This record gives sequence, C-alpha cells and structure tokens, in this order.
Amino acid sequence: MIHFVGAGPGAPDLITLRGAELLRRAGMIVYAGSLVNPALLEYAPEGCEIHDSASMTLDAVVEKLLEGHGRGVTTVRLHTGDPSLYGAIREQMDRLRERDVPFEIVPGVSSFCAAAAAAQAEYTLPGVSQTLIISRMAGRTPVPEREAIRSLASHGASMVLFLSTGMLGKLCAELIAGGYPEETPAALVHKASWPDERVLRGTLSSLPADAEAEGIVRTALVLVGGFLGDRYELSKLYDPRFGHGYRKPMP
Ligand code: SAH
Repeated sequence: MIHFVGAGPGAPDLITLRGAELLRRAGMIVYAGSLVNPALLEYAPEGCEIHDSASMTLDAVVEKLLEGHGRGVTTVRLHTGDPSLYGAIREQMDRLRERDVPFEIVPGVSSFCAAAAAAQAEYTLPGVSQTLIISRMAGRTPVPEREAIRSLASHGASMVLFLSTGMLGKLCAELIAGGYPEETPAALVHKASWPDERVLRGTLSSLPADAEAEGIVRTALVLVGGFLGDRYELSKLYDPRFGHGYRKPMP
C-alpha cells in the first residue's frame, strides 16, 4: 500500500494526525522538496529512506514508490498542502493502478486555507460573495481558454490564485480587465504557516509594486475580493430573528 499524504501548508503541526502517524511508521518517504517543509521529515523513524522528488521525473518517483512497496515497508508520497490541488498525483495514481498496486490518499490542509488564516479572513461573506474560485495564471502549464483569469474575474467572486506570484503585474491587470475595480482589496500571503510567513495587504493596483519591493516571487498566494474589505452582512445562521433546525427565532 502506498500512501499519498498531504503535508499541509508548512507548519509541522498542520499535518493531519493520520498523516503524521504514517510518517512515524514510514520505511520510505518520497517528498516534494521544492515546497514541503523539511521539518516534517523529523516525524520519520531512524533508518527511514528519504528521497526528495524535486529533481526526479515521474518515472523515477514511481520507481521509488514501487521499490518501497515491493520491500513491504510503509511507503509515503508526501505532497504539499492537499494533494488534490496542483499536486500532479493523478499521473502517479494511474501508474500504480496499471500495476495493480494499492494506494490511498490522506488529505491535507491546503495553503489556501492557511492563507485565509494568516490574513484572518473569511472567503464566503454574506452580501459579498458565496463562491471561492481557485485558479492560476497560465505558465508552462497551459490553462484552458474558457478559464482565463479575465473571464473568471467577471464573476466578482472571492478568488485565490496559486502559482502566479511571478506574474503578479500581469495577473492584477487581467483581474482588472475582467471587471474587478482597481481598488478591489487584495493580499499576497507568502509562506503561510511557516516561521517567515508574510501577509501584504493592498489593492489590485498596489499589490504588484509592494510584492516587488518585498522581493516576493514564489511560495505565495494571491487573495482577491471584497471579502478582504470592511463591508458585509451578518450571517443568517446566528441572527436571533431567524430560526433553523437547531434554534428557534427569538421573539
Ligand atoms: N497542493 C498545494 C499546492 C501546490 S502548488 C496546496 O494545497 O497548497 C504550489 C503553489 O501553492 C505555490 O506556488 C504557492 O502558490 C502555493 N503555496 C504552497 N504552500 C504555500 C504556503 N505555505 N503559503 C503560500 N502559498 C503556498
């Protein structure tokens, strides 16, 4: 059995209990070294074989996983955040399926959750937006035309952009071209939950220059939308005038 484990956003105590337990039992760990905090490897027992996949190809990663599995040791493929987002796990799972090797996925705290926590924000505010769009700028990995930032921006929903900090000027220009006013609140959250976490707050027009001044080019998320602003409506859930399955309305 091979275990794909979400490492969480960085802080070693933001992995799940299940994920940490697998690391403690691991005989082999293949971790995504470009993003996973190496502090997580301290969960591994003495003698555990550890490989950084940053310089490996898909074939090499799968070969290592099969090697661990063949040896009968607990084999962990450790991915940053939650593996379902930009984790490139599908291609690994398909290779394992082809060989009838069983695997499971242990979810993790995605960096978009850690970024909201760092910014002390709620993505889904009544009267502002009830939708969160998670996307990215096209880079070497293309994005389907119908999902261009400009067209996603036309919804005016809350947005989180992964993998796009190196193109922040272009990203903000596209968001504005898609319909967000220039003064829309925006934030850049760098290394959410790491010791050197930074949160830059501004607007779509100010953020690129602020990020450049701070020298932030990667491992950051761009948060955009009115949810970072001051105005919203109170929730119905805790409104004394509304009742629901768990509470009667107050007179
Ligand atoms: N599966 C991961 C995302 C991997 S893609 C997750 O769920 O978070 C890598 C991108 O995620 C980075 O380029 C950056 O945009 C973002 N990222 C990962 N960890 C981060 C962190 N701690 N703080 C801010 N952004 C992070």
